[in-house]
Order: sequence, then structure tokens, then C-alpha cells
Amino acid sequence: MEIDGFRGRLITVDHADYDTARRVWNGAVDRHPRLIARCRRTADAAAAVRFARDHDLEIAVRGGGHNVAGTAVCDDGIVIDLSAMRSVRVDPADRTALVQGGALWGDVDHETQAHGLATTGGIVSHTGVAGLTLGGGIGFLMRSYGLAVDNLLSAEVVTAEGGIVRASADEHPDLFWALRGGGGNFGIVTRFRFALHPVGPTVLAGPVFWPADDTTDVLRFYRDFAAEAPDELGTVVRLGTVPPLPVIPEALHWRPAIAVACCYAGAVEDGERAVRALRRFRTPLVDLLAATPYIAFQSGLDDTVLHGWHYYWKATDLTGLSDDAITVIADHAYGAGSPRSYSAMFHQGGAVARVPHEATAYAGRDVAHNIVIDAVWLPDESGEQAAAESAWARRFLHALRPHRAAGVYVNFLDADDDTGRVREAYGEHTYRRLAEVKAKYDPDNAFHHNKNVRPG
Ligand SMILES: Cc1cc2nc3c(=O)[nH]c(=O)nc-3n(C[C@H](O)[C@H](O)[C@H](O)COP(=O)(O)OP(=O)(O)OC[C@H]3O[C@@H](n4cnc5c(N)ncnc54)[C@H](O)[C@@H]3O)c2cc1C
Repeated sequence: MEIDGFRGRLITVDHADYDTARRVWNGAVDRHPRLIARCRRTADAAAAVRFARDHDLEIAVRGGGHNVAGTAVCDDGIVIDLSAMRSVRVDPADRTALVQGGALWGDVDHETQAHGLATTGGIVSHTGVAGLTLGGGIGFLMRSYGLAVDNLLSAEVVTAEGGIVRASADEHPDLFWALRGGGGNFGIVTRFRFALHPVGPTVLAGPVFWPADDTTDVLRFYRDFAAEAPDELGTVVRLGTVPPLPVIPEALHWRPAIAVACCYAGAVEDGERAVRALRRFRTPLVDLLAATPYIAFQSGLDDTVLHGWHYYWKATDLTGLSDDAITVIADHAYGAGSPRSYSAMFHQGGAVARVPHEATAYAGRDVAHNIVIDAVWLPDESGEQAAAESAWARRFLHALRPHRAAGVYVNFLDADDDTGRVREAYGEHTYRRLAEVKAKYDPDNAFHHNKNVRPG
């Protein structure tokens, strides 16, 4: 098989690595595309789109392959796979990075930290830049520097016709607006240009763990602590068990626990002051907050969410951390059967909340906390185990009903009933505006293997 103008690698069912190439991060996703077009350059992605359109093929686009719903791979159609396009070029003079569409956050951190620079990315280094950024992009630096999309300066985009355009504040501004939160609906981004900021290379960062029994008190304390935290302090609460990482004493491994992971994007001494009250609260099981290379911190969670395990997520934005909401969280967070299942709450605010709502398509700016409930089981565990873990996630979300804000972070939506929640993720006004841009740039909905916005 050949694609006119394509100089990457075509992988079909008869190739030895077809089975590896069709796999994504979530091992529960098991789809069989007809063709995987592994691109080397922008022109390859454009050629692959034209080929797919000419042959009426279903299109999936793969960046880092991390989306829990497995939208990076489809049955029977073509996967336009950017995983071999991972270059990152830093311009330290104007503090920008040019990042290819298949790069992972670890690639970005590696290159930018060599210059003492960084930008807001995800909290696991093997997550893709593309999918994460296009949905908004939340992470430890967001309270200082905004979301990943707030740092996006321009994007090179392969359109649904197979053309190539640049989107920025001055070029195709409607497309640029939609790319900043609207997901993979509008084209294939082959290059992102991000603004960078001085960070580290040593930062005060790490998690503090407390026993699960302290969850209610820790969360009540955390609610006030987070509300008063300086913008430099990014925190994520993780509820589950103590992961069996080498840096944690073995006796604590798998113990039910709540952790507050912190990263202070400023001087270490200032960070010490900002976290003092937190680490003095009650008696932590273990306190791993320390002056740490930013790059090491950013990959600290990598082994707790391995490729190939099976995952099922539920998520929602929260109206706040009222005492009632905290009771629900404490009652459900430890109800999973698997010690690998967990939930995570991101604290927004700061620079995220200061960007005007209309400026980008990211809809959750006024939300202080969101939660993602991650059911995890191993590939060799039974269907019953899978059903039980997934039921836990659904039960937990259901119990949170009185405390759910109107929205949900689009990048945390799974397949199943979540496919109907895309409107909920954006809210009616933003969804309608996205639908108009979709009608202009992809009227046939060629890019629909995603959190789909229909042309309108
Ligand atoms: C372990 C883990 C940790 C995470 N942590 C965070 C976090 O800290 N912050 C956060 O915001 N999110 C986080 N997420 C969610 C993450 O944002 C989404 O899973 C996102 O879809 C991952 O992007 P990807 O490129 O790896 O995904 P993929 O599965 O490759 O792509 C997902 C979708 O994005 C679109 N897409 C991908 N590449 C392109 C491209 N080049 N051009 C156009 N469209 C494209 C396609 O529609 C595709 O279906 C995390 C996910 C995981 C699994």
C-alpha cells in the first residue's frame, strides 16, 4: 500500500509491530485499524488526511496515546500517528519552545529545563503534549503561568482538506480560539509554539501522605490552605493507597492514604514558608516534600499509571469543598477493590482564573477544584474485577451529584455514557461557538474520533 506524498511509515495488519503500534496507554482499548500512518513530518500528516478523505476512511489522530477513551485509535480506519514526531526546539532568547505534535511532556521538560525554563504541562511525563494541550492543559504550574493553552502562541495545523495553516492571535484567530480547549476537532496540530518561564531547575516539590482515616480533617484543612495559597504553589490531592515507589519506605506501600502533592514555582525558601502549615498538620505518614529537580518531580508519578494497565475514569468539576462534599469524598475514595485505583483533585485558581472566560475555549476557569476518579485493574484480572472497579467510579461520581459544578474537564471524559457529556464539558455558549468554528474548518466532521463537537 502507498500514500501519495507520504514519506513516513505505513503499518498494516501483516506487519510484525502492528499489534504494538495499535496499542494505546489504556490497555482496555483493543481496536484494529486498517492502517497506521506513522508520520515523520507535517507533509506526511497532510498526505495521510488527503488519502483518508479520498478513500472515505475513518480517521483517528494519535499524539501521546494517553486519552483514557482510546480516541487515538479506531477500528477499520486510518490512525494518523504522530508518535515519531517528538522534537522540541527551545529558543532561550525569546523563551519559546517549538514542539512537534507527537511529543510527550517528558520531552518538553527535558529540553526546556536544560535552559532553566518550563511551561505548564501534565503531571505524568509520558502524557502527550497534543491531546493535553488541545483540551486545556492543567498542571502544577498553572496557578503561576496559566493553562497549557494560555501559553500557546501559535499552532501549525493540517486541515480537514489536507492543507496546512498557521493559527495564532493574528492568523485564523477563530481557529486559534477553538484549538485552545476544543480538542482535536479542528485539524491535526503538527507544531505547537509555547511561551516558557524560568522554573527551577531545583524546586520545592513532592507529596505529603496521611493515613486514610485522617481524610476528612486533611481535606478540611486543605480547603482553607489551598484557598489562601500563593499562586506559585500548585497542589494536587491524591486519594488511594501509598504507591510502591522506591523513595517511599516499603512498610507503607499500598496503605490507604491521602496525599497532597505540591510544587512551588519560585525560590525554595519561599516554598518552604508556603508549605510549612501543611507539613505540620497532624502527623504525616511520610513527608517527601524537598528541594528536588523539577524534571525528577515531573516524572515521579510515571510508574503509578503504567501503559497497558486497564483504566476507566469518571470526572466532574466541583462546586467547592464543603463539609458535605468532603464527607462524600472520604466515604467513597477508598471503596475501590484494587489498590491501584485512586482519585485526584486538581486545584486551579491563580492565573487560570485571571484569563477572561471568552479568551479561549477552556470552560472551567472559575472552578477551584475538579476531581477525576480513576478505576484501575491489571490485564490479567477478571471481567468481574473490571466491572467492580468501574462500578466504584460510577458510584463515587453519583454520590458527588449535589456537589457537582456544571462542567467537567473534557480531557477526563471516558467512552461509554461520557460521550454525551461533551456539551456539559463546554457549557451551551462555548459549545455553540465551537460548533460554528467546526462548521467552517471541518464541515464534514472528518475529525470525529474525539470528544466530538458537531458542526453547527
Ligand atoms: C496518566 C495520565 C495523566 C494525565 N494527567 C493530566 C494532567 O496532569 N493534566 C491534564 O490536563 N490532563 C491530564 N491527563 C489527561 C490528558 O490530557 C488526556 O488523556 C489527553 O488526551 C492526552 O493527550 P495525548 O496526546 O497523550 O492523547 P491521544 O490519546 O494521543 O489523543 C487524544 C485525542 O487528542 C486529539 N489529538 C491527539 N494528538 C493530536 C494532534 N497532534 N492534533 C490534533 N488532535 C490531536 C485526538 O482527537 C485524539 O483522539 C492525563 C492522562 C493520563 C492518562
